[in-house]
Amino acid sequence: MIEYDVLVIGAGLAGLRAAVGIPPHYNTVVMSKVHPVRSHSIAAQGGMNAALANVEGSKDDTIEKHTFDTIKGSDYLADQPAVKVMCEQAPQMVYELEHWGCPWSRLENGRIAQRPFGGAGYPRCCYAADRSGHMVLHTLYEKALELGIKVYEEWLALSLAVDNGRIHGVVAMDMATGRLETFAAKAVVLATGGYGRVFSRTSNAMINTGSGVALAYEAGVPIEDMEFIQFHPTTLYGTNILISEGARGEGGYLLNNRGERFMEKYAPSAMELAPRDIVARSIQTEINEDRGFNDEYVHLDLRHLGREKILERLPGIREIAVDFAGIDPIDELIPIQPGQHYSMGGIDTDINGATQVKGLYAAGECACVSVHGSNRLGGNSMLDTIVFGKMAGETIPGFLASGAGEPSVQVIDSEQKKQEEKIKEIISRKRTHETVGTILSEMQEAMFNNCGVFREKNTLQEACDKIKELKERYYRVGIQDTSSLRYNPGLFNILELKGMLELAELIVAGAIPREESRGSHWRTDFPVRDDKKWLKHTMAVYSPEGPAFSYTDVEITDYEPKERKY
Ligand SMILES: Cc1cc2nc3c(=O)[nH]c(=O)nc-3n(C[C@H](O)[C@H](O)[C@H](O)COP(=O)(O)OP(=O)(O)OC[C@H]3O[C@@H](n4cnc5c(N)ncnc54)[C@H](O)[C@@H]3O)c2cc1C
Repeated sequence: MIEYDVLVIGAGLAGLRAAVGIPPHYNTVVMSKVHPVRSHSIAAQGGMNAALANVEGSKDDTIEKHTFDTIKGSDYLADQPAVKVMCEQAPQMVYELEHWGCPWSRLENGRIAQRPFGGAGYPRCCYAADRSGHMVLHTLYEKALELGIKVYEEWLALSLAVDNGRIHGVVAMDMATGRLETFAAKAVVLATGGYGRVFSRTSNAMINTGSGVALAYEAGVPIEDMEFIQFHPTTLYGTNILISEGARGEGGYLLNNRGERFMEKYAPSAMELAPRDIVARSIQTEINEDRGFNDEYVHLDLRHLGREKILERLPGIREIAVDFAGIDPIDELIPIQPGQHYSMGGIDTDINGATQVKGLYAAGECACVSVHGSNRLGGNSMLDTIVFGKMAGETIPGFLASGAGEPSVQVIDSEQKKQEEKIKEIISRKRTHETVGTILSEMQEAMFNNCGVFREKNTLQEACDKIKELKERYYRVGIQDTSSLRYNPGLFNILELKGMLELAELIVAGAIPREESRGSHWRTDFPVRDDKKWLKHTMAVYSPEGPAFSYTDVEITDYEPKERKY
């Protein structure tokens, strides 16, 4: 058994920010199933919001306006005190990253540059060209190296050892050898990112399987607001690689097959910079009503920005369009369609990242604080990872100092035995025609087609039935190659698929009873927001028969819900 004071699972923005904030006299370690800078945060393009008021046209911007835009953008489902904390800390977090070496893009006068983003009243998004996640993740990784924080790379956390309402440690697999190991820890931080791969069309990387959320769910931790899934308006047709909102922030237009800037009809003032839920629905409506191309996509037009601006501000977007679609946006239109992008729901935490299990914390996309409610604004997720990663890192020392107690070896050993049995059973399965690939793709199609941008009772029920069927078929999936457990992706995939099916069930089963339309959850059979019945968070707790749901109040402290207009 390996023993630490604090084990952080996840080496993306949230995990690294949590780890670097824990004082060095505590024995802290990070675990990641990939090398830290291959974490999905590396893909973040557009930037991170903070009311710095640096740019011409943003001089009146304030923390209060950032707070209000976020709450309005969330369709009033965000907890307002948490949003306040996030927006208050934003400027300090941008400067801290700058002092640690983050090369933010600059204005002529040397100040940090900011670009307009959806749902924001002012240019508020600080960026490093269109490679913001890359720059911030490298900055944090360098900080972790400087502090000598050890990282267990290519280790897959398999389960949480929880007993009597507290965490004792984690069982994990060394992916290089297939060996199981137990980690005893007084505090554990889950920073395992999102679960976009539950859907077929997604901007998320293959590693975004949501296994941390599934681990917490299976350990009995309440999971919040899972029905709220963000569909990004502009993913590249064919591959669904993200075309950042920064492209519209820099002035890009959306055009239908008549050459019309159709956002005029849906959001006459904000146009292409309305929040993502509204723009995604507008695009899908154009496609559904035959004003798209091949019933699949519309166009994003960057040509009028000119070569120089595209090369300076959007070089990565240009490269993506050239490499993956054979289209140069300097001269040509980019075919785009909505695709799954972000998960608003996740592990229920307070503003310090604490879950309902003593010693277990969560931060970043796997957590639900909740600051995004039913729809996240672009540029607020990088901010969420940094602010709430930091809050968790700052809170844990207090927990350790107030007598966290020693983890129980018995509890961890018994969890290890369970995991060993599970793996033995998987290896012993006879190979049938069922494969990870068929179950995964049937789940992803069912989720995108029936629990996507537009939803209704019948299609949601279809998806729910499909997931139940796939959960049964899962037990007939065997590993192709059992000759060695050394880097055996067949085994990793089977282990993670189980959790993905649990999350799919949580999403769709949470969406069925919510008979209203709010933010990203748009019910064609209930097209109106219903604050009387549904101004509530959904909480799900694991039971062998499926999720048990309850509902909690949204914290409304400053801004009464109003109709959203843009
Ligand atoms: C293409 C794209 C562009 C984006 N652009 C922006 C943007 O411009 N601005 C913005 O605000 N937001 C953006 N977002 C959202 C934002 O980037 C993410 O929400 C955020 O980076 C997630 O960070 P994280 O630290 O929570 O998780 P991640 O960066 O996804 O890291 C998860 C970590 O957990 C580890 N892990 C997972 N499961 C396990 C396990 N079982 N065992 C061990 N390790 C595990 C992984 O190895 C990884 O290290 C974008 C998202 C996408 C998909």
